[in-house]
Amino acid sequence: MKTALIMAMKEEAKPVISEFGMTRFSLDSKCKWKNEIYESSKYPGFYLILNGSYIKDQNVSKVGTQAACVATFIALELLGAEMIINAGTAGGFASRGNKVGDVFLGKKAFYHDRRVPISKEWQAFARGEYSLHFKKEWFDKYDFLEGFISTGNSLDFVDRDLDLIHEFGAHAKEMEAAAIAEICEENNIPLICIKSITDIVDGGIPTHEEFMANLNKASEELSKHLLKFLGQEILIGEL
Ligand code: SAH
Repeated sequence: MKTALIMAMKEEAKPVISEFGMTRFSLDSKCKWKNEIYESSKYPGFYLILNGSYIKDQNVSKVGTQAACVATFIALELLGAEMIINAGTAGGFASRGNKVGDVFLGKKAFYHDRRVPISKEWQAFARGEYSLHFKKEWFDKYDFLEGFISTGNSLDFVDRDLDLIHEFGAHAKEMEAAAIAEICEENNIPLICIKSITDIVDGGIPTHEEFMANLNKASEELSKHLLKFLGQEILIGEL
């Protein structure tokens, strides 16, 4: 089954690129989308798509929902992926017992910053609440924590975001999962979300400082889990 792994930042993807033997893959030169795409030499048909970098500063990754949607379009429409995996980092919550390096397999994804208070139906659309793909036995077998993932377009938060995050009962706060889930749901494509905690949202340290300090550790933890899980369940096994 053709499978695409979507990751926002190259830093998060570094261990995956080396461990899966990822080499650059070129789309048709007429194609407008310039995302970095890789194919695994160990598992042909397994792709990695990065969100890409900001046109005005190549050192800045296009984190967030807009670039995540483009990456999902590329996966489905141009590469013909039949399954998507979104892996990356996220903020966790001390109040829920999270610590840096914890790895979550998501069960649902929501938006905490998309609010359309017109009617119940519009609110339901805005909030999202997409089901993610998982099997119960994967949690124990691969040492994943169970969690709900909450998505918004900011690394920091305003009080209303936090209210919604707690109302959803979310465990991991990040910037891409619900957007990818929205497109996958519309197209009937299973999405698996795996997120490694880089920072503790309610821990008192400014998020950007904690994020940068822990990015390498959390990315390595993420790739250890990904390598084992994908190798045994997705890339050679039957789903
Ligand atoms: N500080 C970084 C920018 C990271 S943006 C830099 O300067 O390079 C955050 C990225 O990590 C997003 O892709 C998001 O999905 C994830 N992330 C990690 N912790 C997060 C948090 N607490 N809130 C939102 N997104 C978070």
